[in-house]
Amino acid sequence: MSNDTKKRMQELTKELKQYNYEYYVLDNPTVDDIEYDSKMRELERLEEMFPEYIDPDTPTKQVGAFLKTDLQEIRHETPMLSLANAFSYDELREFDDKIRKVVNNYTYVVELKIDGIASSIHYEDGLLVLGATRGNGVIGENITNNILKVNKLPKVLSKHIDVEVRGEVYMSKDVFTNLNEIRAKENQPLFANPRNAAGGSLRQLDASITKERKLEQFAYTLVNPENYNINTQVGAMEFMKSLGFNVNPHYRHCKDIEEVINYIEEYKDKRKTLEYETDGIVIKVNEMDLHDEIGYTVKVPKWAIAYKFPAEIVTTVLRNIIFTVGRTGIITPNAVLDPVYVGGTMVSRATLNNEDFIISRDIRIGDYVRVRKAGEIIPEVVEVDFSRRAEGLSPFEMIKTCPMCGKPLEKKANEAEHYCHNTECGGRILEGIIHFASRVAMDIEGLGEKQIETLYNLGYLKDISDIYLLKNYENEIMNIERFGKKKVENLFNAIEASKTNTLDKFIFGLGIRFVGAKASKNLAKKYPTLGDLAVATPDELSQIDDIGSVMAASIYEYFGNNKNIELIKKMLLLGVDPKPIYEETVNLFEGMTFVLTGTLETFTRDEASDIIERLGGKTSSSVSKKTTFVLAGEAAGSKLKKAQELGIRVISEAEFKEMVKEYI
Ligand code: NAD
Repeated sequence: MSNDTKKRMQELTKELKQYNYEYYVLDNPTVDDIEYDSKMRELERLEEMFPEYIDPDTPTKQVGAFLKTDLQEIRHETPMLSLANAFSYDELREFDDKIRKVVNNYTYVVELKIDGIASSIHYEDGLLVLGATRGNGVIGENITNNILKVNKLPKVLSKHIDVEVRGEVYMSKDVFTNLNEIRAKENQPLFANPRNAAGGSLRQLDASITKERKLEQFAYTLVNPENYNINTQVGAMEFMKSLGFNVNPHYRHCKDIEEVINYIEEYKDKRKTLEYETDGIVIKVNEMDLHDEIGYTVKVPKWAIAYKFPAEIVTTVLRNIIFTVGRTGIITPNAVLDPVYVGGTMVSRATLNNEDFIISRDIRIGDYVRVRKAGEIIPEVVEVDFSRRAEGLSPFEMIKTCPMCGKPLEKKANEAEHYCHNTECGGRILEGIIHFASRVAMDIEGLGEKQIETLYNLGYLKDISDIYLLKNYENEIMNIERFGKKKVENLFNAIEASKTNTLDKFIFGLGIRFVGAKASKNLAKKYPTLGDLAVATPDELSQIDDIGSVMAASIYEYFGNNKNIELIKKMLLLGVDPKPIYEETVNLFEGMTFVLTGTLETFTRDEASDIIERLGGKTSSSVSKKTTFVLAGEAAGSKLKKAQELGIRVISEAEFKEMVKEYI
């Protein structure tokens, strides 16, 4: 293990150094920022756990890269640091918690993170005398001639003072597009993005090229503010503005981290309409006299952080393809990925759907693949980055036998999926029990995936009906690790309560192929008892809303199978007594609009929305005066704040459950 870890750390160190060189020196990155950031995080994590393997020259402790160029070296008296990154609101709250442990009475300033090149500009007696790049934070390059060619950067200040100001030199989106169009016509290599174009344009020996590139600058740091009696970042921004600098107008003073999060919510789309690229939001403690107390690492200030906007598509390595068996026997290939942030969460698994999906995209183990969140929830591999394919990767071959029971798999000519048709297959049975007990079906609290797996492996659960016989093993179960007396008691109460669930939940729990929650409901509305449903013909069934001939055939086949009938009979004998449901005419929430925020415990957001809609209400994603209720779960953020501001009633999950308990 430790040898592998050491090897991985060496590999990451080497790769990150190479990426730094390509990005900072050549202005020509070969990987996207997300991949870089993920690898940097992985290395930081490993270094924390295994400090003995840290390379003395590790990229985790360095700002940028040391530049070896023809430009003159400049030493920064005050180091030009980088910024720590946050990829989620939780990480921002953690950042805030850490600050609160050290200081009190602080506020924040949020600024757009302009995606350009950091630069330091010195003025003497109000005249621009020196411009430098950040370099490795301590030594940068002299780019005075180039800086003089940057638009909207004052060469003469409004006051006769000595001052060092830092800011971002950037290229606007329009200029970038035009530049690349011209380069394409001239068969010159294209710039990957405006940031690289700005970098390449600024570090030119021939400053006339810089001039042609129409760069601009935003100022955001005033060095040694105390020299000008300035003690807040807001004060510094205003002061720089008064000197004639171009200060980005979108900065905002926020009283706490929740206001910062509100700002991010507001700007996550708005920023796309700006004429320059932004890759995040920079959050700084406004009170500068607290900065030293909060402190610095060798690489970053601890009083500031950059929130990076989640990428919707990211690249990572496909390490393996593994197969899972669903309750209906469907075999799904899944990608095992090098962990990467996508859409705001860390992802290490993604669906590859089926064999056709993989073959048509020629996805191979070892490939660099682009991954996205499909429908915002399940990550999916989209395509291969063929430019990075290593030699010798073998084409994908679908497995021929079930990974759980070893029986041959089958695939119908008109279907994309492979199936394991063995109804005795352990994988299928296990998934079937998990589905039956799950919240969307019989909702047996305390009988989740882990517990079912344990009880299945011990032989106490062989099929769904065994759930109602678990009481026979009460003593044994109580002695299983992580079960315990209270939990087992609650579990048996939940099992007992499930016996009188409504019929639709039971039908859905049976896991009949193609029959989802909605169809189960329609079936239960039409047939008040299982007996009625069991004898329905395919013709009758396909008359029902949302039930087509394929589903009808599947239902008919299910009830035509004696084993299934025996299973149901056994459950009925054990006291299972599903209650009929009737057409709902409840319009409890008619004319009301709900906004859901934060994490709910007993429902998924979809389930809560379903309930609201079923009861005549509407759901919306943003809080406005028209909102009736904001249903706030754990870690609710900006929407909760907004509701409070607008005086909208906020209800907890418990209150919501109370409102709807008779209808779920
Ligand atoms: P950074 O870009 O994440 O953050 C620090 C920089 O933000 C500052 O130096 C400054 O230039 C800039 N900035 C913009 N607006 C600002 C504002 N309002 N206030 C303060 N600073 C502001 O850090 P970094 O050290 O320059 O670069 C690291 C990042 O660069 C990585 O996280 C990665 O995304 C990217 N990178 C990518 C590769 C690659 O190969 N793709 C290689 C190296 C670095």
